[in-house]
Formats: sequence, C-alpha cells, structure tokens
Amino acid sequence: MASVELKGIVKSYQNNVPVVHGIDLDIKDGEFMVLVGPSGCGKSTTLRMIAGLEEITGGELTIGGKIVNDVAPKDRNIAMVFQNYALYPHMNVYENIAFGLKLAKLPKEEIDTRVKGVAKNLEIDHLLDRKPKNMSGGQRQRVALGRAIARRSSVYLFDEPLSNLDAQLRVSMRVRLAQLHSDLAKQGLENTMIYVTHDQIEAMTLGHRICVMEDGYIRQVDTPLNLYKYPANKFVAEFIGSPSMNFTDGTIEKSGNKYTIDINGYKCNIPEEKSKILVDYVGKKVGLGVRSEHIHCILDDVNLPKADISVTEHMGNEEFIYFNYNNTLFVCRSKENLNITRESKNCHFRFEEENIHLFDLETELNISIPTNKIDHSYKLIDLNEEYHVPLLFTALGGKENITDLTHCISRLRFIINDLNKLDRATLTKLNLNVIYSSENQVHIVLGKNTKHMYEIFSKLVK
Ligand code: ADP
Repeated sequence: MASVELKGIVKSYQNNVPVVHGIDLDIKDGEFMVLVGPSGCGKSTTLRMIAGLEEITGGELTIGGKIVNDVAPKDRNIAMVFQNYALYPHMNVYENIAFGLKLAKLPKEEIDTRVKGVAKNLEIDHLLDRKPKNMSGGQRQRVALGRAIARRSSVYLFDEPLSNLDAQLRVSMRVRLAQLHSDLAKQGLENTMIYVTHDQIEAMTLGHRICVMEDGYIRQVDTPLNLYKYPANKFVAEFIGSPSMNFTDGTIEKSGNKYTIDINGYKCNIPEEKSKILVDYVGKKVGLGVRSEHIHCILDDVNLPKADISVTEHMGNEEFIYFNYNNTLFVCRSKENLNITRESKNCHFRFEEENIHLFDLETELNISIPTNKIDHSYKLIDLNEEYHVPLLFTALGGKENITDLTHCISRLRFIINDLNKLDRATLTKLNLNVIYSSENQVHIVLGKNTKHMYEIFSKLVK
C-alpha cells in the first residue's frame, strides 16, 4: 500500500506566515499525481514535507496508512529525483545506480539484476561503463531516475526533474517517465508517483490526476480532461490550456426560459445545462471564458460581430488569428486555413455556445458547469454515514465539538435549513452556492469556497 494522504497540512517558516494553508489531498496507491501551479505557490514545499525534508507545521501526513509526520526521511520508503540531479562524477553509470543498493547491503546478484533491469527499462544499458561527463543531459537525467527507481521505494517524488533539459529532450523524457510508470505497474511493483512542475503541458500529459495550486491553496484536483473541460474557477481555467483561455465579460439576460449573455451587442445563447444557477445573475455582469479552439472566424457573415484583426500566425497545420472585440484581445485557433490577414476587413466571429464558461466576477467560480459534470464538488451525501457528518458539520461552519452522531446530524440539518433561507449575496459571502437537504441526504451543488469546501467535498465523494 503506497497511498499518500495529506490532511490539513500547514507549513509556516520562521515568520509564522503560512505558505501552505491546511491542504487536503488523497493520492491513491499507484497513482501518478502532478502538483502544478505558478512559481511560489507551495508545490515544492508540499513535496519536501512528503519527503520529510521539511518539517510539517500542522496537519497529518500518512503514507501507506501510517502517520509519518515524525518519521525520518530514510524510513518513509520514498525516493526523490530533483531538478539538479547530482551523479557521482568519478563513478560510471553502473556504479552510480548501484551505489544506494550497496549502502543498503543488498546481495551482489540482486544489485546486478536491479541495475541492469532499470538500465534496460530506461534504455541506458549500453552506457553502463560511461562516466557522467561523457553523457548528454538527457542520459544523465535517466541515470538519476534509474538510481531512484532501482531502490524500489513505494513512493517516488519528482521535483521539476526535467526543467534543466532542452525542449525536445523534455518531451522524450516525459514519454519515457509515463512509460516507466506503467512498466513498473505491469511488473507488479509499487509506484505511486508525485510530480511537481510549473509546466501545465507536462502536468496534462503525465498526470492521472492533477492538483492545481495557487498561493498555498489547492484550487482543484481532477483528471487532465476534466480540468480542461470543467475548470472550477477562473484561475484553473486560465492556467490549464495553451494558448490560455480568452476572457471578457457580459451581461446575463433572460427571455422566457432562455438565457443569453450580451457581450457588447453580441448576444450569445447559453445552453440549458449551463444555465442551471443563472437565475440570480439576470441583469448582472459575469465573466465569460472561451478557449481559442471554440472561437470560429467566418468571412462575410454580417449577422455575426466583427473581428478587428490584429495579427495572424500560420503554423502549417493550424493558424492563430488574434482579433479585438469588446476591448479584449481574443485568439482564435483555426484549422481551416482561412487566409485571413491584418488587412481583412470582412472577418466575423462566433463562440461555440456549448463550450463557453461563465464566472462569478466576485468569487471567480465557474457558474456554468453542468451539475452532472462536477465530479468532485457535487454529490448526494448520505447523512447516515458516520464519516461524512462531522466533516460536513465543520465545513458548514459548525463550531461545537459534537461527538454524538444523532446530535451532529440534527445540528447539521439546522445549519442547512438556515442556509437555505439566505439570499444569494449572503450565501456568496459564506462561500456557498446551493445547498438543500432531504430526509437522509444533503444535496450540494458547487461548493463556493474552492479553498476549503471544495477539498472537503472531493474527500466526501470517494
Ligand atoms: P513552488 O515550488 O511552488 O515554486 P515553494 O514551495 O518553493 O514554491 O515556495 C512556496 C513559498 O514558500 C514561497 O513564497 C517561498 O518564498 C516560500 N519559502 C520556500 N522556502 C522557504 C524558506 N526556507 N524560508 C522562508 N520561505 C520559504
């Protein structure tokens, strides 16, 4: 068992200002989890706390079901690969990989089998006699990986291991790492991997799931595709995907049962499944996000708004058309080869309505995710399950320390009923969206506070 569980993990340095704010994250046995976020968001600190290289200020860290807060790094059964891998210059590849195994006093034959096995796996078996100075950066990085893998830990931690390599090598090493993970799994070896990067493409291609961090908080944890299609908030929407999502704003309008968003005169229909919680936004401004492949440039269609072309880039297999509308620079990604240039005066555009995203301007939460698509923040929770209740109780602001389950449930119902009577402005202030309860179940549509509620809901979903 090599699951890794972070419960309310806090890190503060000397000045007592937290840089990691009580994060909860469950990494499953055998999972490839990527921590991604801009520089300074707390990814490395989190990884180093898992490794035991950084003391944990608060919370509980569990590896393989055992609390390890106070366990020394060497006793955590983990291996770590850093950005600045240090190979022993006077040793050849074989000796470098074998070094840790010799220290662990493994029998000679076992060392030989392991070294040759990982070298074959990483395709460096023809380099076993070489010294590091006679190898390329990619080959050296593979030796560093091999050294970690040969130790057969159950959890592997990677801190930006590819960032010193050139772009082409990074791509091939990325593929090799993914292969390595599945090869180890096929051999029945434990290999939970936790990988830190600031590069969202690396995250999208490597991770089974990705944990997006900002300012020491987890903003969303989900599969790469779900993050791309259903970002929980503007930060995730902007961070994941290249080119970045286009953002502007518009006003929500309602006619009969149909909702539209008016973007400076361009009235874009909002599909029914995206408009479930828009009732309170009618007449108000909201943020609109649309990915470049969901914008279409169309020549001579005067019924559509006009695109004021700024620049076009031809990439061979596709083109990027940059244009201005509503004081915003949009980029459209087109495979149609429209032959549009800066001089084109007859270019119009439309958004794919089923693929627009709407954001609350204050909370920046995505208010257009179809509720059946919210994997981690939408769930019917059975109030009779003991485990859920105290967690929910605290998540919803319950302060008392109630141990009796029946009492806790009745207090919880009371809190939820109270919340249901509140108007949207107050709910927003409380960082909640829609909550109602029936006899045995709490029905939660979108936790408003991605920092805290969201993490608790994802935990409850499992
Ligand atoms: P990331 O890996 O996401 O780039 P880090 O985890 O390295 O970010 O850093 C998170 C925050 O903690 C940053 O603001 C950084 O300045 C701060 N930090 C990291 N190490 C120390 C330290 N030893 N002392 C004080 N602050 C630190």
